[in-house]
This record gives sequence, C-alpha cells and structure tokens, in this order.
Amino acid sequence: MNPPVALTIAGTDSGGAAGTAADLATFAALGVHGACVITAVTAQDTTGVSDIHPVPHSAIEAQLDAVLDDLPVAAIKTGMLGTVAAVEAIAQRVVKLSVAHGSLSASQPPVVVDPVLVATSGAVLGGEDVRRAYVDHLLPVATVVTPNLDEARALAGHDGSPEELATQLAGLGPAVVVTGGDPAATGECTDWLAEPGQPPIPLRHPAVPTSNDHGTGCTYSSALAAHLAHGAPLREAAEHAAAYVARQLATSRHWTLGRGRGPIAH
Ligand code: PLP
Repeated sequence: MNPPVALTIAGTDSGGAAGTAADLATFAALGVHGACVITAVTAQDTTGVSDIHPVPHSAIEAQLDAVLDDLPVAAIKTGMLGTVAAVEAIAQRVVKLSVAHGSLSASQPPVVVDPVLVATSGAVLGGEDVRRAYVDHLLPVATVVTPNLDEARALAGHDGSPEELATQLAGLGPAVVVTGGDPAATGECTDWLAEPGQPPIPLRHPAVPTSNDHGTGCTYSSALAAHLAHGAPLREAAEHAAAYVARQLATSRHWTLGRGRGPIAH
C-alpha cells in the first residue's frame, strides 16, 4: 500500500540539523513519503548561520509545479521561506489549491506553517518585511501555525502569555500551536492549542533539558504534518508530534556533535 505523501517547502541546513534535513527525516520516521521544495540554501553548522542564498522565485514555482502536478500530497509544511516573494507565492499557491480542490470536491491538504523568522542560534532567517508577509498573506490561509513563544510574540507584536498569543493569532484564521512554553518551572512543557472561535487548550508533555535542540521547531512541525497526512485530527496530531520531539531530544541529549548547539536526533 502507498504511504501518504507530505511536502516540505523550506530551506536547507548544511549541518543537517534543521530545515529540509529535519523535515525529510521526520517524514520518513513517521511512515510518510517526503517531497521537498527548496526555498533557500543556508551555510550553517552547530555554531550558527554564515550565509543565506535565496532560491530564485522561478525555481521555487517550478519545484511546486512539479510536485503538485504529480504527487497526491496529503499535507504541506512550510519552514524557512526567507523572502516576501516566497511567502506571497506560497500563500497564492495555497489559495489556488483550495479553489482546485473545492471544484473537484476532494479534500484539500492541510497546510502547517512553521513561521521561521529566527534560528535557535539567533540568526535572522526573515526580517520585518517577511514577518508582515506571514501575518498579511500566509497565516490567513494556513490550516495550523506552529510558532515558538518568540515567534508568536513577533507575529502578534507584543509579549503576551502563550495562551493570549495563541488566541490572538487564531483570530487571523488558522489554528495555532504555540510550542515549548515554560519548561524550567515544572519539568513539563506546555504547548497551547487554539482553534478559531474556541478557548485555547494546554497540551502538556515532559520537558527534556538539553542544548542539543537545533532543528526542534522543524521536527515538531514536520511530525505534525506527518500525523495530519495519516489522517489524525489536529489535537491528536499535536500530541503525537510533541511526544515525538521529546523522544528525539532524549536520544540526542548527551551527544557532543560540533562546537555549538547540537542537532536534535532524526
Ligand atoms: N529552517 C532552516 C533552513 C534553518 O536553518 C533553521 C534554523 O537554523 C530553521 C529552519 C529553524 O530551526 P529550528 O527548528 O532550530 O527552530
């Protein structure tokens, strides 16, 4: 029997921790065939990002055409998009897909948006103009958005609590999971899931203290997309994705790869 297909639209990480390296490994581990549209090539290792080379717009469009014309994509995940043009192009493609699926009355693949703006190392992967493009164009057409607390604050424009941020961002249209809240206080992490028009729900899972966490956000959003591709409902997919990340972090917890912030296990 065929596996479900998930598509990642994201940047590369030459160090193999984040970006498409994490996405494709996570899809494979969760029984999903991964397709891959590259938006930017980054030069980076465990110590940081030393170069970012955006892929030309026409090449992003050509990759999208190739994949979407051929493969039965059951879920889409976006990671680092890097430029306003890329964010707008992906948003337009999502709208086009929903029109096409509407007229064919087939179900539209869910779109998981990981709003990558800043790397765990602090490198800026999208500036203010990119942040605005997410808010204005991509978030309103996404199925679910998965910011960490810093990204949620940047998108919302203030330092509210995770549940306030999740509720506010869900007001733009998508479901929202604000990930990774408050591990120090309780030994637990709390993700906040907000679906439009509903009160936010805390999703608790064990915290895994480690500095080998590069790629955690990518792994979470890919695991969420993989479970949605298998047909899981959103809350169940979010719980499975958090458990998967905790398991991978526990595996890489004591690794000593590189001189900087090491990778989460794939
Ligand atoms: N995508 C790319 C290409 C990256 O280089 C990074 C960070 O370096 C990310 C996404 C986000 O990484 P993380 O999952 O560690 O937040």
